[in-house]
Amino acid sequence: MADDGSARAASARGLPRRVEVYDTTLRDGSQLEGISLTVEDKLRIAEQLDWLGVDYIEAGWPGANPKDDEVFRRAARELDLSTSTLVAFGSTRRPKGKVDSDDTLRHLIEAATPAVCIVGKSWDYHVTEALGTTLDEGVAMVAESIEFLRGNGREVLFDAEHFFDGYERNPEFALRVLEAAAEAGATRLVLCDTNGGTLPHEVEEIVRAVVGYFAPDGQSGDVGVAVHLHDDAGTGVANALAGVRGGAIQVQGTINGYGERTGNCNLTTIIPNLTLKMGIETIPVERLDRLTPVAHHVAELVNMALNPQAPYVGESAFAHKAGLHVSAISKRPDAYEHVSPETVGNGTRFVVSELAGRSTIMLKCQELGIELDGPQVNDVVDTLKRMEHEGYHFEVADASLELLMRRAAGWEQGWFVVESFRVITDDLVPSSDVGSGRESAGVSTEATIKLQVGGERLVATAEGNGPVNALDQAVRNALGARFPDLDRVHLTDYKVRVLDTQKGTGAVTRVLIDSANGDRSWTTIGVSENIIEASWQALYDSLVFGLLQGTSTSGEPSSGEPLSGEPSSGEPSSGE
Ligand SMILES: [Zn+2]
Repeated sequence: MADDGSARAASARGLPRRVEVYDTTLRDGSQLEGISLTVEDKLRIAEQLDWLGVDYIEAGWPGANPKDDEVFRRAARELDLSTSTLVAFGSTRRPKGKVDSDDTLRHLIEAATPAVCIVGKSWDYHVTEALGTTLDEGVAMVAESIEFLRGNGREVLFDAEHFFDGYERNPEFALRVLEAAAEAGATRLVLCDTNGGTLPHEVEEIVRAVVGYFAPDGQSGDVGVAVHLHDDAGTGVANALAGVRGGAIQVQGTINGYGERTGNCNLTTIIPNLTLKMGIETIPVERLDRLTPVAHHVAELVNMALNPQAPYVGESAFAHKAGLHVSAISKRPDAYEHVSPETVGNGTRFVVSELAGRSTIMLKCQELGIELDGPQVNDVVDTLKRMEHEGYHFEVADASLELLMRRAAGWEQGWFVVESFRVITDDLVPSSDVGSGRESAGVSTEATIKLQVGGERLVATAEGNGPVNALDQAVRNALGARFPDLDRVHLTDYKVRVLDTQKGTGAVTRVLIDSANGDRSWTTIGVSENIIEASWQALYDSLVFGLLQGTSTSGEPSSGEPLSGEPSSGEPSSGE
């Protein structure tokens, strides 16, 4: 933890005591292929970022599209940020234009944020080739735009586009642009590696040169140097660390590293690196354990499964597949983990497979807060061996394993009882084509489920684009009103693998379902010769596990008395 002592140690090593965190998930991050955020999503993400405690939230580019305009309109009315400053992004005025009749600048003012960030060109080649204007005019565009925004009461951060490439080719011009920005009143000179190909040693050297230029005596006055780095060379985070070593006092990046191409500097990695490893203050230190829940919540909002191998916040970040070393890890976790997972809101996880002995199972019990006696532990070991032989693979299905262990301890879910279900798939062949052997016009699937809740019988039917989807919908139709927690549970992935290919269609099928509820994600498994049966097992476990998570944040479920131990989620409830 970065107490005052280590922060002092950081400044003694010539590092800044504190580094600001500037989030651009909503602007640069949303450039990632496949991400499409609604206005509502953006507002919810901004709330998460404020809860985490970043310094700046760049919310979008007003005037660029109607959606971003609405974000700023609604943010002013609806967002009550307690930690973060909202930033509107834009560019300098047009070449040969006037600041007071420039649309981009007008939109920035209308966004009504306390701070704005404008991008301008610092690579001479881009000024003459892309803008088609003179270097003098390039500098004037930057200076006049910043003066205008300052004159309208805004804090102005200046993004020097292509700075590292430009500096290498023409350092005089690159510095001249920065100097003009600083004189016009910019508070931060943001050195951008727009193409993302610069390496850490180059970043450190160039940042140090710029910091030295503006603060030769080490006192930077009103203007500070910031870095905005892309991950094209796989060094986005390393470049940001190098930038801080060079004297940058602000890092820009995105949650989970989202961004165009290979992404941006990943804030969920750089924040703990700076705080835990370098003793530099970033977000409020007591909020560091919000990092994992925020990473998961934002992944949920952008509708992309979080990379399990993401440093610090991924599901596997502190997962040990230990074998012989299991008891050693449990006694001395610091010998096997680079930081304590709890500091970033994650947890140690022991990966259990058929090779697991009693000690792994007992450790897993400890991790999940499940109490098993000796014979019950032996039962679990035997059951695992038998089921893995049948084709289960619990190593990748944490939630099904947890349910299996809870059942071994005598727990049964008391929320609902399944009486029966049925899935019908119709091949819709247009009547004119019947018998012609031509492709069908489409397949429709319908599922019906019969359940009991507290003695009451519920029957529901739903259509879906496949058997899992239809069954999932049917269960939700039946239970949704009674168990609102199910609303938060989404299936994020569905994988099918045929295990014994020699048997053809009679082979055993393994189904894995990934699910998430905004706080965490989990995987469940089903195995059967019948793909619908295998899918149902995995779906059932997913929904039961989702309800089990709900009990840890919103009190007891509305019926039944299902818990024999503490719920497994050690994460703080996220948001708000
Ligand atoms: Zn960028």
